[in-house]
Amino acid sequence: MTADADRRDRVRRRAAERYEERKSSRRCVDCNAGLMPEDGVRCVDCAERVRDSNIVYRSTERARATRRKRRRERARSRVADGICPHCPRPRSKRSKLCDHHLAIRDASRARRRGMIDLVAARRRREREKLRRARERVREAARRRARARREIATYRPIDEERRPARERVLVGLRFHDWISARDLFEALEVPSDDVDRAERARYAQALTRLVRAGLVELRGPRGAYEYHLTAAGVAEADRLLGRRKAS
Ligand SMILES: [Zn+2]
Ligand SMILES: [Zn+2]
Repeated sequence: MTADADRRDRVRRRAAERYEERKSSRRCVDCNAGLMPEDGVRCVDCAERVRDSNIVYRSTERARATRRKRRRERARSRVADGICPHCPRPRSKRSKLCDHHLAIRDASRARRRGMIDLVAARRRREREKLRRARERVREAARRRARARREIATYRPIDEERRPARERVLVGLRFHDWISARDLFEALEVPSDDVDRAERARYAQALTRLVRAGLVELRGPRGAYEYHLTAAGVAEADRLLGRRKAS
């Protein structure tokens, strides 16, 4: 033993002796003050000081590391003894844990898995929603393109007498609610400036179709939008079918 270690040992031994001596004579082990019957081994002041410094020490990283290390060591020695690392129950056959803690672990894993499933399901729903929205956008574009084609190639059967009426019906067939201006543009009806009479014929045809119950309108005065009624749809389909047949 080195001299240094020898000296440390002597100091420790003397401290232990002093502790025992003060304790047996009911004096504070720290400050040697006389103790009250309700005191432990320290007077009220020293007990409080020790308590405070313990609280402060326990909050330090060093103390936390020590606690972690002790916990790990304890768990390891329990496992070596065939005891659950979390409680005094014996380990189960299929795990280091006891049946009780194994059940808890399984439940928490299942819960986590359930949560992952929920997230995955939500992502799937969102992807599906996006896919459907894209599909609707594409479908609308296809419908518009088809409408443009149909309208561009439609030649009224009744060319001589009522071409405006047929073209308006067919034009409306490919649109949901649409203003007269947009409809006439789609039908390439000349504007008032170019051919007032032709434009007027189309406007009249539209008005007559409304009166005949083939077209309905909505919206504030001056900003009407037009739309085929069920009867109008049937009539337009008849016209389109007849043309295809011919
Ligand atoms: Zn004291
Ligand atoms: Zn256990």
